[in-house]
Amino acid sequence: MNRTDPPPPQHRRLTDRVVRPSDRPEVSFVGIPVSPGVAIGPVFGTAEPEPEILRQKIQAADAPAEGARLDAAIAQSRKQLLKLKVRLSALPEDSQTELAPLIEAYLAMLSASRLIRGARRRIADGLVSAEAAVLGEATEIAGAIIGQALPGTSAEDRAGMRRRADEVHEIARRLVRNLTRAPFQSFAGLPEGAVLICEALRPADAALLDPARLAGVAAEEGGADGHTAVMLRALGVPAVLGVPGLPGRLRSGDIAVIDGGTGTVILNPSPSNLATARRAVSAFARERQRFARLRRLPAETLDGTAVELAANLELPLELPLIQQSGAQGIGLLRTEFMFMNRETVPDEDTQTEAYRTVIDAMGGATVTFRVLDWGGEKEIEALSAAGLVPELADTNPALGLRGIRLLLRQTDLFETQLAAILRASAAGPARVMLPMVTTLSEVKAAREIYDRVVRRLRRRGERLPDKLPPLGIMIETPGAALSADALALEADFFAIGTNDLTAYTLAVDRGEAAVASLYDPLHPAVLRLVQFSVEAALRMHRPVSVCGEMAGDPRLIGLLLGLGLRSFSMNAAAIPRVKQAIRNLRIEECVRFARRVMEQADPRAIAALIDASK
Ligand code: PEP
Ligand code: MG
Repeated sequence: MNRTDPPPPQHRRLTDRVVRPSDRPEVSFVGIPVSPGVAIGPVFGTAEPEPEILRQKIQAADAPAEGARLDAAIAQSRKQLLKLKVRLSALPEDSQTELAPLIEAYLAMLSASRLIRGARRRIADGLVSAEAAVLGEATEIAGAIIGQALPGTSAEDRAGMRRRADEVHEIARRLVRNLTRAPFQSFAGLPEGAVLICEALRPADAALLDPARLAGVAAEEGGADGHTAVMLRALGVPAVLGVPGLPGRLRSGDIAVIDGGTGTVILNPSPSNLATARRAVSAFARERQRFARLRRLPAETLDGTAVELAANLELPLELPLIQQSGAQGIGLLRTEFMFMNRETVPDEDTQTEAYRTVIDAMGGATVTFRVLDWGGEKEIEALSAAGLVPELADTNPALGLRGIRLLLRQTDLFETQLAAILRASAAGPARVMLPMVTTLSEVKAAREIYDRVVRRLRRRGERLPDKLPPLGIMIETPGAALSADALALEADFFAIGTNDLTAYTLAVDRGEAAVASLYDPLHPAVLRLVQFSVEAALRMHRPVSVCGEMAGDPRLIGLLLGLGLRSFSMNAAAIPRVKQAIRNLRIEECVRFARRVMEQADPRAIAALIDASK
């Protein structure tokens, strides 16, 4: 590393923390590794804030609607618990024996239990809101359970009563969380160097984490390429998601080791495991420093083929890391950050300012702005509050009003964002990219709106660049991939989003731990769609890149080069690793390798070829 280069900021903290071994028994878990690096630290996690209930009383006429809200929350809670139940099978047997009856007890309380019956009565007769009814009834039931204790009741029986009362409170809290849509955790007060452990982390919550203070993250829910995983990788925070049973095993004062490369989480590691983890932390830091030396070297194969390596940006705080990574631009700027964690939708000037800051920071390298991709798991309160989007409780949000579909309905939202990007593009090169395209007509409609916004800005006398930003599309649905030849007529460029492409091709939710083993970008169906899209783009002389998580995996870069790709966008931390892989490859060999891969019908055979090529 050049002496003047500071080490990547978010990794400094991991090495200088002193954590003493705990005297509690060690417990290990295995989850899905989502963001590399090893973290050691005190656990921050279990304390959950009491949900804030804004509405206590209701009108008699509203009682049926309130009952329906309760029904929806029961259904949602049941779904969450059933998911958890499925995932129990991945746990060691003794953990299963401990957790399974608990989940059954929760599920039973969601049926025609005293809690539910009582809550319904409170809504209908007491005219209180569903959340007030649930909490009121739970408090009464728990009080009655504890009140059964008599002077002669044994300590063991008393403990059993407390446990049952806690279970009632716990299921009531889950219902209220689902009624109020409160996030599962409050991360305020997260101590420096802590390991965050929680049930679920929404992408919007991950966006609020401070990578300089946080050692690592582990959560019970989540999958490898869900947006929370993407966000954690972008922040460079070691993380493991989809760890069943983990939050339930926490006790205050626990310490944890998280290995985001292997997916292991150890609570209260033994002195020898703690020492191993410390060595891993140092080795990871040394590796980062080694990679930092690659920054100024070109991304070029052994036979001199230049490859473009750009960065994905989810949050402005990634900009310094992107600048340090040697990225040749931003190949995917997920503009969702502009809309998250705020009460109102940002206006044109606010957005222009934010986009200009990124363009300025990139000093002449191209920034690809992907317009708002709302939907799926990307819940954005400001849009709900403004009535711009339907309730997320849609039966199937991933197949609903996502990405470009929403923007073509909410044209004011779309036009405001396009105007902001166009105005910002006067400061430096930019591209505009449409998410979740499935048909040619969407691209045509978007282009008409784009042209209209350009004309309006010109009439207003706004300064625009002579060469307007190209308007391209994400290829992230099988529909788009299979009509890539037609789409190339309307789109100025393609960026292949392998995350959604994999999810939609294989019908696997990308953020869902229970089906994580089926989520496989190396499935031949996904690779054939990538190949078809690349060939269509090259035939039509349209620039094409990959900006899904696949691009950041150095093991896959040879295959992608062999399929004809020369441009990739990834989380900034992955750039040096991918660059190093490229500098050891020859295009001719990559083409031969890709041919062999594309002959395979079995994803396992493809995985074996990739493993053997390391
Ligand atoms: C993708 O789907 O591959 C992609 C890059 O978009 P996002 O991860 O934001 O959905
Ligand atoms: Mg996508």
